[in-house]
Amino acid sequence: MSVATLGAGARVTVDLGAVAHNTRTLAARARGELMAVVKADGFGHGAADVARTALGAGATWLGVTGLGEALALRAAGLTAPLLSWLNPLGEDFAAAVRQQVDLAVPSLAHLAAMPPGARVHLQLDTGMARDGAAPGEWGALFEAAREAEASGRIVVTGVMSHLAGPETARAVRSFRDGIAAAFAAGLRPRVCHLAATAATLTRPETHFDLVRTGAGLVGIDPSGGDTALRGAMTLTAPVVEVRRVPAGTPVGYDHTWRAARDTCLALLPVGYADGLPRAAGPWAEVLLGGRRCRVAGRISMDQIVVEAGPGVRIGDTAIVFGPGDDGEPAVGDWAAWAGTLPHEIVTGLGRRPYRHVIGGL
Ligand SMILES: *Cc1c(COP(=O)(O)O)cnc(C)c1O
Repeated sequence: MSVATLGAGARVTVDLGAVAHNTRTLAARARGELMAVVKADGFGHGAADVARTALGAGATWLGVTGLGEALALRAAGLTAPLLSWLNPLGEDFAAAVRQQVDLAVPSLAHLAAMPPGARVHLQLDTGMARDGAAPGEWGALFEAAREAEASGRIVVTGVMSHLAGPETARAVRSFRDGIAAAFAAGLRPRVCHLAATAATLTRPETHFDLVRTGAGLVGIDPSGGDTALRGAMTLTAPVVEVRRVPAGTPVGYDHTWRAARDTCLALLPVGYADGLPRAAGPWAEVLLGGRRCRVAGRISMDQIVVEAGPGVRIGDTAIVFGPGDDGEPAVGDWAAWAGTLPHEIVTGLGRRPYRHVIGGL
């Protein structure tokens, strides 16, 4: 990947071409429609950019967590069907109606808070005890929704749930029961939806009318390594200093690392404030001078030292992570080194790196 010189420090490059490719891949697997989930600023890749790209590549819906995220997408000019699924009761639901944002309703209290004109997706818990109404509450929720619909106050657009990972077959049965009960109560939801990225890729029986994919759009495959998806983010940093040190030289805070031989150290202006997990330090690598170089010592707030080859010069560019084209670590490698998920790496980037978007429509 070519790296321009604008913005001299650490730099995040978002490749919307990869987002478009991933969207097409997911849309081809989905039996029904595809919702582009762009919560948490599009998993750190830019919500409006990812949304626009995904809609241009086969997605028909947008999804976010909070209403504030939804209204920001409307303000950015995105007019596609849009669902927000996690809101406290005090939220400005009238604004959702004005901006034609569908709302998930997980409880009778939320249903009662819906203003006239609300379009709702009844949210069922099918086995993760996180968000959504518990099965014992479904009957009352469906009855109350039917009454609210009959009075003309709301429209029930959808029924939704979310998968925990294990026990998917049981969750699918539970979701089918929920849909059947909703229809029996007189509701006619147009979109029933359950699957996120992992189930979209591996479990067609979870697809129903719509799948909600977020991680997959940006190249993260939670089902474990679908190579058809492409990482959409690259983090680079320039070499600011180079020093030669003798064997035994301690490096960084707490002297946790010592040079095993006479060697060459390169300093990169990227640290945990920029999103590198400090816990990754003992295993972390970057690509520099065409080869993998170990991080030497602690990851600091603003900088890391790497053990580099002898040919490395000030001004060279290190690839901290990227799609892997040149042998650089992937986001997933950094996640594994830190004992976390790639999702946490991409959503945890700091605001300091210069951001650059390529491959747009
Ligand atoms: C985040 C989220 C998704 C998207 O999940 P991915 O695994 O990132 O595709 C779908 N549905 C809900 C309710 C979510 O919170």
